[in-house]
Amino acid sequence: MTSLAERAAELRALLHRYGHEYYVLDAPSVPDAEYDRLFRELDALETAHPELKTADTPTQRVGGKTLPEFAQVRHDVPMLSIRTETDSGPGGAANFDAKVRRDLGLAADAPAIAYAAELKFDGLAISLRYEAGILVRAATRGDGETGEDVTQNIRTIGQIPLRLAGVAAPVLEVRGEVYMRRDDFDALNARQRERGEKTFVNPRNAAAGAVRQLDPRIAAQRPLSFFAYGLGQVEGWALPGSHSAMLDALVTMGIPVCTDRAIAEGAAGLVAFHTAIAAKRDSLPFDIDGVVYKVDDRALQAQLGFVSREPRWAVAHKYPAQEMLTTVESIDVQV
Ligand code: NAD
Repeated sequence: MTSLAERAAELRALLHRYGHEYYVLDAPSVPDAEYDRLFRELDALETAHPELKTADTPTQRVGGKTLPEFAQVRHDVPMLSIRTETDSGPGGAANFDAKVRRDLGLAADAPAIAYAAELKFDGLAISLRYEAGILVRAATRGDGETGEDVTQNIRTIGQIPLRLAGVAAPVLEVRGEVYMRRDDFDALNARQRERGEKTFVNPRNAAAGAVRQLDPRIAAQRPLSFFAYGLGQVEGWALPGSHSAMLDALVTMGIPVCTDRAIAEGAAGLVAFHTAIAAKRDSLPFDIDGVVYKVDDRALQAQLGFVSREPRWAVAHKYPAQEMLTTVESIDVQV
């Protein structure tokens, strides 16, 4: 038991360090696959031996702390994490569907569940707050409860409307991912090389570093894009009955939503989506690290609810890791 406790402490220390480098400094020193491997090991240890769980264990927390250089923003509706399905093959989709059906108490012959299947964009989560249809604030996820005010930098992203089309609800928080397209990333790195400046490790790192810049003029020079995938606080707007209808409504307001999404029926539909996206992953104009499945019906989502830091109605289904464990060089830690 002592050695298990020691291993758990060792994993917590490593994950704290890597999490800080990734979430706070935008400067990871190990590939995501390595972080995910250690996270799964700790999660399995804690599941088998719940007494090893500590209050500050990374498996129960979201993201990282905010930087003191930014004003703090309290998220009235927390920005959560998503559980990652451990089986990256077709079995992962079936596991999730079986778990949802079990949690809902469905009989074996009950009809298939409809899922909203989406891409898992590899960028930085942002909450956009519109009041009376006007963008008033943009914040990072931070630790899920408190994020950083990055409004000035987000205003420089041309794709994000400063005013919503046709909606003037008192409060509408749109949540999504700021990311950098691969061609924009290559062009940015070419420019950096020409000027003899530091290049960026990957598009995610470049996007996160740009959003968390203290100087909006520098952020404005970094080509960023945005896709919405959810909502936070909403007042005075009638929520559609399903996740997919909500995304359709956002499109009509002028908010960018990725068109690579589908309604998948049951486990078979999820497997088909996962396979189709795997085949086109390399030709997408931006990086993804997997797909996300969400129970589409909002009433069913409410029935399923949440467990600690994640909803029971959603799962991330990643593709087998492509990254090797190499030293990450040339990082942008400017904030
Ligand atoms: P997560 O795995 O908890 O997933 C939730 C996040 O997914 C959201 O906040 C959002 O930003 C994003 N997302 C993308 N597409 C989405 C969609 N369609 N719907 C909903 N959310 C979507 O996110 P996380 O905690 O930020 O972790 C992401 C990954 O970061 C981890 O799996 C890990 O691989 C990596 N990470 C790496 C290191 C490292 O040292 N290399 C350290 C920490 C985390």
